[in-house]
Amino acid sequence: MMMYNPKSTCAEEFISHEEIMDTLAYASANSANRELIDQILAKARERKGLSHREAAVLLDCQLEDKNQEIFQLAQEIKKDFYGNRIVMFAPLYLSNYCINGCVYCPYHAKNKHIPRKKLTQEEIRQEVIALQDMGHKRLALETGEDPTNNPIEYVLESIKTIYGIKHKNGAIRRVNVNIAATTVENYRKLKEAGIGTYILFQETYHKESYEKLHPTGPKHDYRYHTEAMDRAMEGGIDDVGCGVLFGLELYRYEFAGLLMHAEHLEAVYGVGPHTISVPRIRRADDIDPDVFDNGIDDDTFAKIVACIRVAVPYTGMIISTRESKTCRERVLHLGISQISGGSRTSVGGYVDPEPEEESSEQFEVSDKRSLDEVVNWLIGMGYIPSFCTACYREGRTGDRFMSLCKAGQIHNCCLPNALMTLKEYLMDYASEDTKEKGMGLIKQELDNIPKEKVRKIVEERLTEIEKGNRDFRF
Ligand code: SF4
Ligand code: SF4
Repeated sequence: MMMYNPKSTCAEEFISHEEIMDTLAYASANSANRELIDQILAKARERKGLSHREAAVLLDCQLEDKNQEIFQLAQEIKKDFYGNRIVMFAPLYLSNYCINGCVYCPYHAKNKHIPRKKLTQEEIRQEVIALQDMGHKRLALETGEDPTNNPIEYVLESIKTIYGIKHKNGAIRRVNVNIAATTVENYRKLKEAGIGTYILFQETYHKESYEKLHPTGPKHDYRYHTEAMDRAMEGGIDDVGCGVLFGLELYRYEFAGLLMHAEHLEAVYGVGPHTISVPRIRRADDIDPDVFDNGIDDDTFAKIVACIRVAVPYTGMIISTRESKTCRERVLHLGISQISGGSRTSVGGYVDPEPEEESSEQFEVSDKRSLDEVVNWLIGMGYIPSFCTACYREGRTGDRFMSLCKAGQIHNCCLPNALMTLKEYLMDYASEDTKEKGMGLIKQELDNIPKEKVRKIVEERLTEIEKGNRDFRF
């Protein structure tokens, strides 16, 4: 039996199976323990987070009135930490060559139905121009694991290409990277290439299931995969993004594992994950989500989002276009701080969208609206779509970023940056209707900048943006 130890750098000790099982038993035994749930809620109201055990009790809570309190608190914390801003991003698939055997992903090595594609640097240029023309400033790079077709040099060259493209007023200002677990040396190279966040989904924290779901390829190695964030930190990447693929294993297990992973990063490196993603398994070529019997319904999904928000208030939460408009709308106010829009999940899909019957998407997109439609929808609901990428460009990463968050000071940057980047979007890419609504929102939100001096600077910069100048930031 492996001893649970959040400070260990051994996967089976910081994600201890026994500790998760004990946590689930504790949560289940206390699911109607009003006194304990009240105590946990009181602690959560201090906005300093919860342990995985405490959060697991909230997730299991069977008392309807207390569940309403959990949702209410999640909304309040979301508002306190993130206001009404939602950061926008898009995925960019570079290559679907992959030597792994992940049974839930159409890019698994044995799938012969889909055409394998790898973008050339010129094709990347074209994709990025298409993304810039939509208005995107922040990308998440995605690629399968294949040392021959997608070596680290290819990823590094692609990042350089992406940052180098300045088309009209467009620019990709932050490239987050989602590639397979790799070496400290490669993480160092990614850091030097100027990436934003390194994202790697655990898929499942349940080791036995993990090994079955990843029967072949380097990803089969649970320990190497689970310890990837430690190597990333060692390589100097201090913003990492975690996530699980809900539907593969029992959601309570994944939830506890995810929070234990966050606790481990905090305990060892002094900084928890920058973001947590909450994907649910989706249909794709060769993949039928119905064969995975741990799927979760929308109500459970909303509860998970609310409980993550309450447990780790400082960690951004991401939702992709896997989820429908209705589902995204429901969880936005419960804690989501970043969403994708206008996404294509196939290689080369922005320049050359595939007909549905020939799809090679990594997953079926549920929210198929354009970026402008998503922006318009957000504004209509009173959210500020933000294209801000300021923090890592200003050196606000890792513990520096977290200490600003914890002191409640990051707000002073986020709102002005959101307004200025939204204005850029409206001037350069928006439809008439979006532009009109967005201008009204900016005018109204200016009053919410508390410091007069900052407000004045933002007003001046907004005027500069109208004159054609770009890329102001705090
Ligand atoms: S999830 Fe990633 S590693 Fe697994 S088959 Fe798909 S692309 Fe490859
Ligand atoms: S200022 Fe920093 S935390 Fe705020 S939206 Fe911009 S990048 Fe994110």
